[in-house]
Amino acid sequence: MPIKPENRHRYPPDWPDIRAAVLERAGHRCERCKAPDRQRIARGGGDDEGTYMLDTAEVFDAETGERLGQIHMASYQVKRMTLVVLTVAHLDHQPENCQMANLRAWCQRCHLAHDREHHKRSAWLTRRARSGTPDLFGMMEGQDSESTEPALSAPEEGIRDKT
Ligand SMILES: [Zn+2]
Repeated sequence: MPIKPENRHRYPPDWPDIRAAVLERAGHRCERCKAPDRQRIARGGGDDEGTYMLDTAEVFDAETGERLGQIHMASYQVKRMTLVVLTVAHLDHQPENCQMANLRAWCQRCHLAHDREHHKRSAWLTRRARSGTPDLFGMMEGQDSESTEPALSAPEEGIRDKT
């Protein structure tokens, strides 16, 4: 992901060196799906959805990078050809946090997948924070299995208007 101009000041001055070190650590392959940096790969569709193929006709799992096998190249169902460009992501989305453990070299697809999760989670957290719903699981403490007992006798406790 290119650095957004409004975030540029949040990166340390030695970011180019840090970035290079992360790519080095990764062996210039995506640290999630193992796609090789700066190489053209085919992303699969149809029966080959969720995989990618190298120019050696080797096919890999696009989530884990596991090598699935080698096939006849012409039989691969190509969704699109793409040039892998690794970018360095911050797991916690804080550009200031440049500890190696917080950094990942990821291809576009894996980076997007991580961001999507993050956006989903923060949108959810925002909604939850707004709604102020009581903590059901806290209220049900002590009930550790799906119970057929009658409902709790006083569930209104936590959700009663503050008066
Ligand atoms: Zn990847």
